Amino acid sequence: MPDVSLIQCRDYTLENLKEKIAQSLLNIGFDVKQFNKTRVVVKPNLLMPAKEEKAIITHHEFFRAVVQIVKENNGTPVLVESPAIHSLERVIKKTAYAAVVENEGVEVADPGITRRLIFDAAKKFKHLDISAAYFDADIILSLPKFKTHGITYITGAVKLLFGAIPGIEKSKMHLRAPVHDDFAEFLLDLYGAMTYGMTPPKPIIHIMDAICAQEGEGPGPAGKPKWLNAVLAGENGIAVDYVATMIAGLDIKKALTVVNGFKRDYGVSSAKEIIVIGDTIQDLHVNDFVPATGSSIFSNMFRWPFNTPTFKNLFLDRPVPREEKCTLCYQCKKICASGAISQSAGKKDIPEYDYKKCIRCYCCLEICPEAAIEKQNGRLQWMMGG
Ligand code: SF4
Ligand code: SF4
Repeated sequence: MPDVSLIQCRDYTLENLKEKIAQSLLNIGFDVKQFNKTRVVVKPNLLMPAKEEKAIITHHEFFRAVVQIVKENNGTPVLVESPAIHSLERVIKKTAYAAVVENEGVEVADPGITRRLIFDAAKKFKHLDISAAYFDADIILSLPKFKTHGITYITGAVKLLFGAIPGIEKSKMHLRAPVHDDFAEFLLDLYGAMTYGMTPPKPIIHIMDAICAQEGEGPGPAGKPKWLNAVLAGENGIAVDYVATMIAGLDIKKALTVVNGFKRDYGVSSAKEIIVIGDTIQDLHVNDFVPATGSSIFSNMFRWPFNTPTFKNLFLDRPVPREEKCTLCYQCKKICASGAISQSAGKKDIPEYDYKKCIRCYCCLEICPEAAIEKQNGRLQWMMGG
């Protein structure tokens, strides 16, 4: 039975975090003595350089608390993460992680050095190139931030492992799995490969920062911070994501990595099997958590041959840059793997979108530092008042 520890935690003070995280590990039966003489990859969510109060990245004190627990138990923490378009070095430098890395003497792995992970039991993606640091670790501690997401509805433990694929290669994966369901299946292939396909197998513990989560148009600057006051932990990422989605009061049927994950039976095949230890879902449940808006009623329905430019333009939200907010940084162009964004020759030079090429992955919206890109209803949705 997959155990998930759920503990109330109302702030980011270091001692409080250490106590709650240590208790979380104890709750799921993980003995911290296992860190002794091991190399421990600690993977936070460092999507982009972002202010802590925006709740885009795993809080630096949360990361510090985990690092100190590893060190106090004679383990060697190694930070690895692959941000969306910036280098890891730059994101560390531009955030409070710089001080933590320096003060705690944390080794930082190069996420761009990759090794091939082969998982024959995957549904589609049997070969994936991921950062070599995961292979070199004895234990992996993954520290997701709980946030809303335009495609997968929520991002948590399963989605965080997407960061094992280096930099811009991540956005290219959207081209290989452009349909929402397919993208969730790809994430589950990757989750399955890292959980069951590594040789030798490595324990992966998911310790979730859901203290200050993110609601609305997450998971980037367009989302809004929302306090859920919770630390979750478990060896089963699908179960951890289930519990987080439930305390946020979101619609579990839309959390694709959870519902599709149950179907795969990766250690959990239904909510009934999950044992919550510590606080209860009811204790920490909130009623007013705002999901990402979007095209979810259509997005999970469309399949070839409906995945055509015309169909997309009619049914799916299109990303639209707002001139008044855009600072012309063109990070959106950098991340767009389908080449749908170009530099306009017009007076204002705001990005120009080719909606025939756009696959609606919303990566541009996710990384726009000014939250200048909005979703606009597809034409038929607009007519239907959708
Ligand atoms: S839309 Fe956003 S990411 Fe694109 S150029 Fe403008 S500010 Fe930069
Ligand atoms: S324009 Fe934006 S939503 Fe469309 S494919 Fe490019 S990154 Fe994805």
